[in-house]
Amino acid sequence: AADAPPLPRTAVELRDVTHAYGERTVLSDVTLTLTESRIGVIGANGSGKSTFARLLNGLVVPTAGTVLVDGLDTRTQVREVRRQVGFVFQDPDAQIVHPTVAEDVAFGPTNQGRPADEIARRVDEVLDRYGLDGHRDHPAHLLSGGQKQLLAIAGVLVMEPQRVVFDEPTTLLDLVNTRRVAQVIEGLRQDVVVVTHHLDLLAGFDRVLVFEDGRLAADGSPAETVPWYVARNA
Ligand code: ADP
Repeated sequence: AADAPPLPRTAVELRDVTHAYGERTVLSDVTLTLTESRIGVIGANGSGKSTFARLLNGLVVPTAGTVLVDGLDTRTQVREVRRQVGFVFQDPDAQIVHPTVAEDVAFGPTNQGRPADEIARRVDEVLDRYGLDGHRDHPAHLLSGGQKQLLAIAGVLVMEPQRVVFDEPTTLLDLVNTRRVAQVIEGLRQDVVVVTHHLDLLAGFDRVLVFEDGRLAADGSPAETVPWYVARNA
């Protein structure tokens, strides 16, 4: 809601971060601090965007260097880190774990050990906000692709993280649902990091990171980075 008080800001800091899968180094020497509210991440397939995104909440732990979320080390304090930084996958099927819509949304806060009445209130609120209220007892796997992605987003937001990382949240969606998810992201009071190939999503963003072959190739405002990226890949 527009009149809700702003959430405290979460700063994510990467110090000399390198990541390898086995022998293969896919991110090299990344050092930066993320404090801006709206941050985009772009780059060719295989450039390391998804690995970078997963480092931000401890889904991936760096093979060298350190990732700190408000000073919490993702290597040793992953539970606390995940309370602060939520993650939405490209494929909502990777995220939906419970049979019905309402049960699925309740899973996260239940896991966090929140009181039952608070969980019920939060679940109602997010289902209503994302137009899923009429589907609360529906089998989640029968929802449309767009509804599934909204459900996955609801399942993260219900835990009230301070920052949400989206890894190509619209890649599998049609145009209508892409717009819908873009609007949802735009309306969030949470800070976001959005990995995307939809460059128009980034117009109002504060900062865009461009990855190339596992290195940060550009870092600046959308006006500085997006045309550079487009020209470089033309
Ligand atoms: P992007 O999101 O930009 O496509 P990724 O971070 O997904 O980049 O991948 C970077 C490189 O790491 C790619 O070459 C990819 O094949 C490889 N990779 C990603 N995940 C794994 C994994 N779990 N095991 C091995 N290699 C991986």
